Amino acid sequence: MEDTTPTGITDHRLTGLLEITWADGLTSRLRHSLLREHCRCAGCEQLRRHGDGVLAAGEALRLVRIEPVGEHGLNLGFSDGHDRGIYPWTYLRQLGAL
Ligand SMILES: [Zn+2]
Repeated sequence: MEDTTPTGITDHRLTGLLEITWADGLTSRLRHSLLREHCRCAGCEQLRRHGDGVLAAGEALRLVRIEPVGEHGLNLGFSDGHDRGIYPWTYLRQLGAL
């Protein structure tokens, strides 16, 4: 049974990986650049809708801020100054399976 309640979050800044462990025992390892590319804020969604707006985040891009949004998920800020994205737990879990 899938349980997307997070039990631990570890940020590996050197390797650019955010590691989340879940209540059902699974571990997701999310590249910072992948998280940035999959930001779902209004601005990024609009870029995506207009075709050529596929974000290509460099491997050097890093998470610089991780803040909980209630019980809901995380608000992530990145080294390119972008910090609008809200990442619900279920979405982070999906991204971990990419
Ligand atoms: Zn965004």
